[in-house]
Amino acid sequence: MSDFEFSVPILIVGGGACGAVAALAAHDAGVAPLLIEQDARPMGCTGMSQGLFCAAGTRSQAAHGIKDDGATFLADILAKTRGQTDPVIARAIAYGSGPTLEWLADKHDMPWELDTGFRPAYGNSTFRVHGWHGHGGKDMIELLHQKLAEAGIDVLTQARLADIVADADGRVRGVVIERPDGSTERVGCEALIIASGGFAANHEMVARFMPEAAHARYNGPEGNRGDGILLGEKIGAAVADMGSYQGYAMLTDPQGISVPPGAIIEGGILVNIEGRRFVDESFDIAGMAHPVMAQPGGHIWVIIDAGIEERCAYIPEMRDLLELKAARQADSVEALAAILGLDAGILEAELAEARAAQAACTVDRFGRLWGKDLPPTAPFRAFKAVGAIYHTQGGLQIDGDARVLRADGSALPNVFAGGGAARGVSGPSSWGYLPAMGLCAAVTLGRIAGEAAARQVG
Ligand SMILES: Cc1cc2nc3c(=O)[nH]c(=O)nc-3n(C[C@H](O)[C@H](O)[C@H](O)COP(=O)(O)OP(=O)(O)OC[C@H]3O[C@@H](n4cnc5c(N)ncnc54)[C@H](O)[C@@H]3O)c2cc1C
Repeated sequence: MSDFEFSVPILIVGGGACGAVAALAAHDAGVAPLLIEQDARPMGCTGMSQGLFCAAGTRSQAAHGIKDDGATFLADILAKTRGQTDPVIARAIAYGSGPTLEWLADKHDMPWELDTGFRPAYGNSTFRVHGWHGHGGKDMIELLHQKLAEAGIDVLTQARLADIVADADGRVRGVVIERPDGSTERVGCEALIIASGGFAANHEMVARFMPEAAHARYNGPEGNRGDGILLGEKIGAAVADMGSYQGYAMLTDPQGISVPPGAIIEGGILVNIEGRRFVDESFDIAGMAHPVMAQPGGHIWVIIDAGIEERCAYIPEMRDLLELKAARQADSVEALAAILGLDAGILEAELAEARAAQAACTVDRFGRLWGKDLPPTAPFRAFKAVGAIYHTQGGLQIDGDARVLRADGSALPNVFAGGGAARGVSGPSSWGYLPAMGLCAAVTLGRIAGEAAARQVG
């Protein structure tokens, strides 16, 4: 169309993990994409994350003697979501995750390897969480953008997707970009990839689709307003699992830093302001936000010990917490109870029950099966924490090629989506989220979308 200022073969919206990986994939497939990002410095949810993602059947797993494959990962996803997820997307992610990690390592020299500290937990039946040892999401997004620069991929920052220009049948002709000064530009494209993240910062949408989380603390970027999802709907796309999200039970108050999951995997417990445990801490990484929010006083204590702290000290969030001296410290149960204002008898009884269950290799009264995780012993550490919502998992309905679909199941002619903008594989609510699935979906679907869009226009 003549009224576009210029045209590109593939336009990608969003410079988080999904958009950056989609750009690398399109570039490697021989098509030069343009990536637009609303912020001056791309960060998104990816930049706030722990930078960990699931991948199955990787060389790094094999090097540690871990047997895993797409079929096992798919079975874990279906079990965690009680079968209430899209099996086509789940299969694409489960089977695509390992090859995606290998491609990024081989072709783009990405340093991701198995995080052996992230033991099988919360629905991952084996060691499957990968990351960049000692680094987090900020390092991940900066490295991805460094790779985009090295590849010569065009990235337009401070360029917000304001509208999508499409024919009546949903064929996208281009987009309207808004600049910080309010001026607009119209850019044509042959294919569009929507990688603009989720909508957890959009209070109206959160209240509509997940009312139980409407008053939860939000710990994500303000840019996750759901722009891409809303504009996708406007051109005929279907959405699904809009009530799906990751909550988190251990956001420290007042620091606003996540106590990493490793603290629980290594043996940490949660107690309320009466000193009582109230949940199997190892069961549900995302849904656990709700029992935490329901506790008297609205906050809880994450109790670990010096050994757990040391074993988790390689994790950036734990390092930050250590630097801030965020933990209350005590050398005995009595001293800990006094510092936290808890009943020492109740706290001691909780620890004793956990120890007894661990010694007997059996479940405690909440159903937690104690294995290699040892309940905390003196010297203790305790973090004050609240439950929060981190990111959403529902969005544009896609197929196994990341093509955006209409409600009748047919594909829009030239639109793709992934990451937080697309329907994920976490079921309909907060209980189906596997650890490190958000970035897994972003990275894997980014590659799938980039390659599929390149095939279409190539
Ligand atoms: C605190 C925290 C910790 C987390 N830890 C993990 C973890 O360790 N492992 C894991 O798997 N998941 C984790 N997650 C979730 C994970 O970060 C997300 O699932 C993932 O980053 C989504 O990637 P994305 O590329 O789809 O979105 P994002 O990273 O949010 O990127 C979207 C980009 O699009 C841009 N954008 C939005 N709207 C527009 C617009 N209109 N025009 C132009 N640009 C736009 C945004 O500015 C942003 O840069 C965590 C989330 C949080 C909040």
